[in-house]
Amino acid sequence: MTVTAARHADLPTSTAEHIALDERWSTHNYHPLPVVVASAEGSSVTDVEGREYLDFLSGYSSLNFGHRHPALVAAAVEQLGRVTLTSRAFHHDQLGLFCRELATLTGTEVVLPMNSGAEAVESAIKVARKWAHRVKGVPNGTAEIVVTGSNFHGRTTTIVSFSTDETARADFGPFTPGFRIVPHGDADALAAAITERTAAVLIEPVQGEAGVIVPPAGYLARVRRLCDDANVLLIADEIQSGLGRTGDLLALDHDGVRADLYTLGKALGGGIVPVSAVVGSRAVLGVLRPGEHGSTFGGNPLACAVGRAVVALLSSGELVQRSRELGTHLHARLGELVGRGVSEVRGRGLWAGVDIAPGGPTGRQASEALVARGVLCKETRDRTLRVAPPLVVGRADLDRGLDAIAAVLAR
Ligand SMILES: *Cc1c(COP(=O)(O)O)cnc(C)c1O
Repeated sequence: MTVTAARHADLPTSTAEHIALDERWSTHNYHPLPVVVASAEGSSVTDVEGREYLDFLSGYSSLNFGHRHPALVAAAVEQLGRVTLTSRAFHHDQLGLFCRELATLTGTEVVLPMNSGAEAVESAIKVARKWAHRVKGVPNGTAEIVVTGSNFHGRTTTIVSFSTDETARADFGPFTPGFRIVPHGDADALAAAITERTAAVLIEPVQGEAGVIVPPAGYLARVRRLCDDANVLLIADEIQSGLGRTGDLLALDHDGVRADLYTLGKALGGGIVPVSAVVGSRAVLGVLRPGEHGSTFGGNPLACAVGRAVVALLSSGELVQRSRELGTHLHARLGELVGRGVSEVRGRGLWAGVDIAPGGPTGRQASEALVARGVLCKETRDRTLRVAPPLVVGRADLDRGLDAIAAVLAR
């Protein structure tokens, strides 16, 4: 018997046993729904008791290509048979290709590979600060970055320093200085916050965790102009909104706006390994010199091989198109619930924030009711359901999930 088989034979079998183990041995920094996933394929997952669910969360958009997409698994398996890790002390034969292919896909010039999304954001912050000092001429140690309220950019100490979510922030000071927070969607407030010390504006083109918030029409184009006028970098955090989720490759593409730097993550790892990156212009990313920044695992061969397969999947444009078309259907159907248990639906492509009307269930209660109907969704904030099926979801499965959502929310 193989080691793997022996370990699986020892597994507890009931949902309750697994949850009890998690509760006893893991830190309680999440409040998961009571489903214990044992396997998954495409848009569906199966729990330890053999129940099947449609996955309408997609790992917060890490699973844009569904679970275990055959092309991604094949790329990972092939790479596992060659080399998985070298560290950046040596070159390897996947890094340059990954960077070229990702830069080509995103219309950018160079790639800084990292692992988690938060690391990509941290990297962009460091690069913007160095650029401000060395290129723009901001006195060292005084550069500022303007961010918008209700942002979500990750969980590191620096990133929570400019969060407006008190749960995410309150107990974790002292905080990193150098950030100005302005209301999201308010271009006048943003204009007023820019000074000669401003290095960058950091923004989610669509705010995911805040409830899939699409800013007012024209806002992002105005932000771009404000950045141009003041020699300020625009950093688009597309970790959740990018790579096809909104029906365009990048959410900023909707507005015909280009950023100086983009942070990418989540789906870039194909749901297999953590892969993130900052992509952008050579004039900005080129400020980094050897020894100034890095990561042991960043740009490792396995990550690059999977990332290349992700880029290959996206480059035909077929999945992005699918997100746009199925997204139109998704929004049409969710729109029918407005005024009937739902107060508002926002979003783009296969991505929606559904605000539950007062008097209806909480987001948590709605998520639990959906579990009972075989659909996995998760609330964000208290009364918003985030709907984000994999871009590969079948039309019939999409409708089945939407039927369940309607059954739970409609009044
Ligand atoms: C998830 C997310 C992050 C953080 O990514 P991690 O991989 O969890 O560190 C940053 N920005 C946005 C917009 C995200 O959605």
